[in-house]
Amino acid sequence: MKYDDNNIFAKILRGEIPCDKIYEDEFVLSFYDINPQKKIHALVIPKGKYVDLDDFNTNASHDEIVGLMKGITIVSKKLGVSSIDGKGYRALANISEDGGQEVPHLHFHLFGGEKVGKMVL
Ligand code: AMP
Repeated sequence: MKYDDNNIFAKILRGEIPCDKIYEDEFVLSFYDINPQKKIHALVIPKGKYVDLDDFNTNASHDEIVGLMKGITIVSKKLGVSSIDGKGYRALANISEDGGQEVPHLHFHLFGGEKVGKMVL
């Protein structure tokens, strides 16, 4: 799938629409999900234009991949849910139509702040 510059997260990255920002660095932007499914529901997105995880893992640089992975843990620490601090959370990426992805810019959901329960398929 070709990257759509008009997707909502592209607009957030360009500052055209606001977000409730948690963290930002060279590689990632993190903000709260507008429709939280758990007590804490954050999103972590790469700054580069990648449609989904397979696009990212195929086409992103090593620095971008490391930046996103580390960004997830930086955000988990900021949110107080990191396993390093004795807590926990679920990180989840929906991938393409069969995976239930709605916004075509790669994002990881971080669910926490409570027991998130078993995965429901
Ligand atoms: P997915 O189904 O994995 O593509 O998830 C897309 C997520 O983006 C959903 O959980 C939405 O609630 C969330 N979302 C959509 N628009 C916004 C927005 N403007 N700000 C924050 N989260 C959003």
